[in-house]
Amino acid sequence: MSALWLRHDASLAHDIPGHPERPDRIRALEAEMNRHGWFGAAVEQAPAIERRLLHPVHPERYVASIESLCASGGGFIDADTAAVPDTWEAALRAAGGAVALVDALLGGTATVGVSALRPPGHHAESERAMGFCFFGNAAVAARRATSAHGLSRVLILDWDVHHGNGTEAIFAADSDVLFVSIHEWPLYPGTGPASYAGVGAGEGYTVNLPVPSGSGDAAYRSLVEHVTAPLIGLWEPELVLVSAGFDAHRDDPLATCTVSEAGFAGMTASLRRACDAVGAPLGLVLEGGYDLGALAGSMAALMPVLVADGPVDAGEVARHPLADSAVERLGAWWPELGGGRSA
Ligand SMILES: [Zn+2]
Repeated sequence: MSALWLRHDASLAHDIPGHPERPDRIRALEAEMNRHGWFGAAVEQAPAIERRLLHPVHPERYVASIESLCASGGGFIDADTAAVPDTWEAALRAAGGAVALVDALLGGTATVGVSALRPPGHHAESERAMGFCFFGNAAVAARRATSAHGLSRVLILDWDVHHGNGTEAIFAADSDVLFVSIHEWPLYPGTGPASYAGVGAGEGYTVNLPVPSGSGDAAYRSLVEHVTAPLIGLWEPELVLVSAGFDAHRDDPLATCTVSEAGFAGMTASLRRACDAVGAPLGLVLEGGYDLGALAGSMAALMPVLVADGPVDAGEVARHPLADSAVERLGAWWPELGGGRSA
């Protein structure tokens, strides 16, 4: 596999004193990657996104409002989300990295990769910054894939412990982006019930997989192996993106799931195997993860799987009841997901 890692120093300058979404996250991640020779990935500097590439997701009036907030010294948008002057470039680079990753994956210069910048993106709605997020990095990248590259099937798996309300809202009515989210429930931002499946032509293309507090490797791995991977097999996406947060880790201070480093590696193995089977490139876009050791250690655990040459072995993954109930629920839109198992 030819692997790409996108980063930029601008991620270190967006700094809100005392905030958990902090520059040290990137420092810890990069120190760990550096210790491992970046697992053979080519390290490139993320470009600032061209403004017009934001517009399919964020209208210009919203982009301009973030720019002017930063230019005027910054401030709080809500209780969790604040900008400083350097936030502007950081946000442009974070979105730009995700787009550059997609361009590389679809241009054939990389088969797997990671866009590891901040601020994160999955809570940002079309015209609303929230939850530490300004631009929907993964959403903008998925739109890049469907518009500039002409793809008709992009799957986003959001395994950040929080529901990706922004990504969900942006693609709620679309059938060209299949959004799958595993998230602790109830938890911020309160969206993402299992019953919500999108609207209009997009119905069935939002797959919410809420899990209770305390859920760990068994639930998460089964929801990837037995729900997400079969969806990839059935729908045959031309690109798979992961909104890769690491706050479902047991050490994370912002949530109460119990995923381990091995759990993240296992989910990646299931995804790699499913992507390889349909020929889809696989890219990770960094979201949350607020314990520095858990963040760096989890990425280090999954990287050898992500970049592995040849077939990836996901091992035996036990079926979890949450996966069984999801398959049953999804039968309305994805009847083949049951795979002949009796209803
Ligand atoms: Zn999160």
